[in-house]
Amino acid sequence: MSTPYWGPDFGALAAFDPDIAGVVTDELDRLRGGLQLIASENFTSPAVLAALGSTLSNKYAEGYPGRRYYGGCEVVDRAEEIGIARARELFGAEHANLQPHSGANANLAAYGAFLRPGDTFLGMALPHGGHLTHGATVSFSGKWFNAVQYGVDPATEHIDYDQVRDLAREHRPRMIVAGGSAIPRLIDFAVFREIADEVGAVFMVDAAHFIGLVAGKAIPSPVPYADVVTFTTHKVLRGPRGGAIVCKAEHAKAIDKSAFPMMQGGPLMHAVAAKAVNFKECLQPAYQDYARQVVANAQALTAGLAEEGLRPVAGGTDTHLALLDLQETGVTGAEAEARCGAAGIVLNKNAIPFDPQPASVASGIRVGSPAVTTQGMTEGDMATIASLIGTAIRDVDGSRTAEVAAGVRELVEARPAYPEPARAV
Ligand SMILES: *Cc1c(COP(=O)(O)O)cnc(C)c1O
Repeated sequence: MSTPYWGPDFGALAAFDPDIAGVVTDELDRLRGGLQLIASENFTSPAVLAALGSTLSNKYAEGYPGRRYYGGCEVVDRAEEIGIARARELFGAEHANLQPHSGANANLAAYGAFLRPGDTFLGMALPHGGHLTHGATVSFSGKWFNAVQYGVDPATEHIDYDQVRDLAREHRPRMIVAGGSAIPRLIDFAVFREIADEVGAVFMVDAAHFIGLVAGKAIPSPVPYADVVTFTTHKVLRGPRGGAIVCKAEHAKAIDKSAFPMMQGGPLMHAVAAKAVNFKECLQPAYQDYARQVVANAQALTAGLAEEGLRPVAGGTDTHLALLDLQETGVTGAEAEARCGAAGIVLNKNAIPFDPQPASVASGIRVGSPAVTTQGMTEGDMATIASLIGTAIRDVDGSRTAEVAAGVRELVEARPAYPEPARAV
């Protein structure tokens, strides 16, 4: 602690490179000026940003604490050791690896630990709520492995566990993957575990989307059920952009060797340190209040949107996100995204299960509550947002854009993202 902290110096950036400084400030204005309802986004804290903007970015640290391929790692080792200990405490996990640069990398590392090219695994189809890395043909996961895809039951729009069991019995996969990017309901990890045990498969949960709700004890944890849990650290969890893996002790060696050197080179030590900061935040009691409010807000938003004539896929949400079917409104997902965007409501078009439209058009939208909840918004605000979205979506000629934008402005001025710190007088 003898040297002063050499942290982000925005003045230096602004003086040297006004172009990029302008991007940084414009993006902050954009975040503050609209409603961020992208379900995978959040506002990370100044403490996390400080770790990210630190000189830890300079250090090469291939390997793991105490066993590096470079000298001078004794300081950054502490960041990774602290982060691993916090991750294990937070998730009750036997082992943690914080090195994956992203969620996709975490999945590649997990596959690399258990699968060989050509091996069979079972994953959820992207158009049903899964993720690209769960076997989509455009992804390494679909190109390098024999990816068998399950989906949701057309009647309930919940995961079709009977189909999962049937496909597992038929294809005898080496691995079964649960999780996805547009699954509003809870996943029954016990059923997946049972199916995996029956066919002798490794059970992996990709908890990228909902791990923050697990950390905040708002929903059940997959950690006791799964052999390996991969996740991102930047979604509900609210940490830096990145990935991580927790697993049973028996898989620790395989996972570590797969993350490095199989999948990546040197870890991003500034990001590893920022993950450690984020885990400390998640261990505070206030984070559990946050996680509960995220779910309450998602449910309030979904109920409000249902009143606006948008049909919640799977009947609603137990998590931070909802998928809305717009077919009864006659508006496509792409049109809805554009109309909301024009008024400062940022959300994404999303395929719904059995969508008749191509993914570039889509019949649905996906909304999430993590960012607006970080701003301090509550159920009453969600009702207002739902009504603004309803107005924007039905606004064919843009005649009500200004009115919706004014409603958005009122909300974000009352509860700003990244409020200016109170100045000492
Ligand atoms: C977001 C996400 C990922 C990928 O994370 P990136 O950091 O964008 O690579 C992987 N799996 C699921 C389920 C996700 O939602």
